[in-house]
Amino acid sequence: MAEKRLSDVLLRWYHSHARELPWRVPPGETPPDPYRVWLSEIMLQQTTVAAVMPYFAAFTQRWPTVEALAAAANEDVMAAWAGLGYYARARNLHACARVIVADHGGEFPESEAELRTLPGIGAYTGAAIAAIAFGGPATVVDANVERVVTRLHAIETPLPKARTEIRAIAESLTPEKHAGDFAQAMMDLGATICTARNPDCDRCPIQGVCSAFQTDDPGKYPIKARKKPKPVRRGTAYWIEHDETVLLVRHPDRGMLGGMRALPSDGWQEKVARRGEAPSDIDWTSYGTVSHVFTHFALKLDVVGRRALTDEGHEGEWWPIAAIEEAGLPALFAKAVALVGAQRENAQ
Ligand code: SF4
Repeated sequence: MAEKRLSDVLLRWYHSHARELPWRVPPGETPPDPYRVWLSEIMLQQTTVAAVMPYFAAFTQRWPTVEALAAAANEDVMAAWAGLGYYARARNLHACARVIVADHGGEFPESEAELRTLPGIGAYTGAAIAAIAFGGPATVVDANVERVVTRLHAIETPLPKARTEIRAIAESLTPEKHAGDFAQAMMDLGATICTARNPDCDRCPIQGVCSAFQTDDPGKYPIKARKKPKPVRRGTAYWIEHDETVLLVRHPDRGMLGGMRALPSDGWQEKVARRGEAPSDIDWTSYGTVSHVFTHFALKLDVVGRRALTDEGHEGEWWPIAAIEEAGLPALFAKAVALVGAQRENAQ
């Protein structure tokens, strides 16, 4: 099947099988609002559709336009993002909204090259917005597309080394017209039929040209280089309470969990493995340990607590314990708070 024919087959399949997602319009209709495409693509980086859905709904309800998002307080945006992870995305999202309003009159630029000059928009996201929101001839390669292409050609080179070859093939497949629908067709095929485990080849519209289908095990593609196990770090988080409030700090904008509220903590942000050291030698109550996996390391965080005699002499904000869920804590510290909460309940 020539490239053109393959794209025609996939586009036809997409017209009757496209997933209905809140940031999309049905195939062939007027392209969707670039603001919604951009917001969804930033949220979908390293994150599943199911996890993104409630955040997308909450953001678009609270900030329905790029102007509204640009005008929001940074701490409100960071708190609304809490739990979605990869917090640099939220910082860049807000910075990008402000640049769009200040320098582009509230309109997203249409070209992939201009989009890539904006905060938080890299190769993938620039191509996705150019193709999906503006119908530009951009090739979008996400994990779903990578999987479909490696199977189509039964590429034996492991990832990530195979990426240059995958991109070249994906570009050769992308039609000049309807590049956005084609990108979404490839993504949907990867998400619903050519899935990571047990691809459903019997329902696949491009089975006839798929090299992996000719093998005993199409699911073995893409071949992945063996990953090194993640190093384990240790640290300590401090639950310091006073008069039904708890002390929260804000992480500096740059660095891990930048700009997010958190319990005071120590030790775990350094590459050397060490336990955090308590900020004073008062007796601390041990609440236990929570685990969390970041991109480059796994963490075991000991959680200890005490009551403070006064709210003076501490840097940070005293947050009402009854409203702790509104603090927008990232998942690591939400787990630590849940651990403390369970033990406080047991103690009552
Ligand atoms: Fe994927 Fe199977 Fe279709 Fe090949 S035939 S693209 S392996 S679903």
